Formats: sequence, structure tokens, C-alpha cells
Amino acid sequence: MLDGCCSGWLSDPRGPVRPEACLFTMAEPIVSEDPANPLDQLSPLERPRAVLQWLQQGHQRFLEGHSLHPHSTRERMRAVVEGQHPLAAVLGCADSRVPVELLFDSGFGDLFVVRNAGTMSTTAAIASLEYAVGHLGVPLIVVLGHEACGAVSAALHPELLLTPNLAQVVGQLRMELLQFGGDLTLEESCRRHTLSAAGNLVHSSVLLTDRLRAGQLTVVAGYYDLHSSAIDWMGQVESIRYPGPS
Ligand SMILES: [Zn+2]
Repeated sequence: MLDGCCSGWLSDPRGPVRPEACLFTMAEPIVSEDPANPLDQLSPLERPRAVLQWLQQGHQRFLEGHSLHPHSTRERMRAVVEGQHPLAAVLGCADSRVPVELLFDSGFGDLFVVRNAGTMSTTAAIASLEYAVGHLGVPLIVVLGHEACGAVSAALHPELLLTPNLAQVVGQLRMELLQFGGDLTLEESCRRHTLSAAGNLVHSSVLLTDRLRAGQLTVVAGYYDLHSSAIDWMGQVESIRYPGPS
């Protein structure tokens, strides 16, 4: 867990999950080709934690080399043609070394994934995730940063010559990192940026903020280590507490 100005809205997501509240503790989770949403059996308040546990179980299988590769058949493809019911959404980097579905051992129709260079909470990314939450009923968003992110690295090297579009993205990252002081390592910068992206995502969206405050949505920040392939779950975004009427 990081200390500092990003930590105020973060809390440790790794609390115990009540067994009766989780659908995903069976030996072979979600391998059914049935496109029905298993979350329908849970209350809205139970869904975020249950889905987080499902993701963490999938990632653990990947780490241990026991991936089940669920929902990867053509039968599953056909089953989701008429509509999607993803269980979680992920905002990640476009980096080819961070293949989101593989990291969570998931398949067609399981994850709503938004990726761009630098894991940026752009307007397009926020709109996409609002769609996932508001229209598809996703109860969990993972903001997944990673080690050695090229966009973050570029932000630490202002001498680089970039195209106008790249310069806009990298300049935004550079301004963000300057808030934390000018002497962060690349790893510290990648971690800080992931936390900032998660906070900016929520605090730029009325819909996401409302769902978060209602307990129907969790937004959690994760950091993917390229060397170990493990995800460090850094914490979840807390909703801003506004003062009541005086
Ligand atoms: Zn990256």
C-alpha cells in the first residue's frame, strides 16, 4: 500500500468474503456455456466483493499454471451473440505484455475491457466504463497498471520528441506525476499513476460516484508485475464524503 496523497481514498479490499455470498468457490468456476448472469443470484450489495474474489481466483490459477481457459469455445461465442453479461470491467494499458483476459483466466463475454496507452482515465474510457456499469450492470472495475509502463516512462523523460497526440497523453501523465514530486522511480510512478487513474475515473463520473456511494460498485486498483506475473491489489476507491446541509 502506498502512503501519501493517493492513500486517502483507498482501503484494503482483501477482507473476508462470506462463503454464502460467493458463487465462485466451486471447483470449476463459470465453465458453463450458459450465458445467464450468475450475479442474478446475489443482492446488489454482495456482487462487488463476490466478483473481486472470482477475479482473484482466476488470477491465482494463472499464476499457478492451472488456467482453465473457460469460455474460450465457439459454443460459448455463439451463446453470447445475443447479449453480453460481463461480470467485471477492467481499465488497463494497451501494452501487449498485459493481456487482461489471460491474467484472470477468463473468456468470451466475461470481462468488459478498456485499454489505452498508459491506463488513462480519458473521456472515452470513462464513457465506456459508465456503459459497463450503467447498462450492463457490472459491479466491479479493476484499474490495472503495470510495471515498466512505456507511457509513464516517457512522462519521466521530457526530452523525448513525440507526435502531437502522444505528447498530449504523456504531458497529462507528466503533470500528474509532478504532483508527487519530481524524484520518483519508474515503479513508484507507475504505481502512483494507477491509483490516480482509479480516483480520477470515479471522481469524473456522477454515475460511478453514485453507484460507489450506494455500495453497488467497487473500483479497485491493481499493479501487474511483469517479472512475477502477479497482481498487487493496492486498494479500492472510496467515495468522497460531502458535508451535509448546514
Ligand atoms: Zn503501459
